Amino acid sequence: MRAIVFLLFVVLIFLIARFVLNRVIEIREKQRQQELQKNKAQQAKENNHPEEMVRCAQCGVHLPQAEAYFDGKDTFCSEGHMQQYHAEHAKK
Ligand SMILES: [Zn+2]
Repeated sequence: MRAIVFLLFVVLIFLIARFVLNRVIEIREKQRQQELQKNKAQQAKENNHPEEMVRCAQCGVHLPQAEAYFDGKDTFCSEGHMQQYHAEHAKK
């Protein structure tokens, strides 16, 4: 009789351990998916707001606004093109 009680006890502990393990795995999986969704949301955000591109008024090349030269009216890829553009338009 004692052996049966002990066996039941062992089975009970085994079931509890399995339940806890399943819960832990479930929680970890949830956290992992939340992390993945966060990363996806972050990427979508970045894709929706790419770096502003501007066009050089002199040669027409496109470049990020942060690297462009701006004279208050037009943007240029380099200081040289800005001066060239102004020189050409001053003549006319
Ligand atoms: Zn240019």
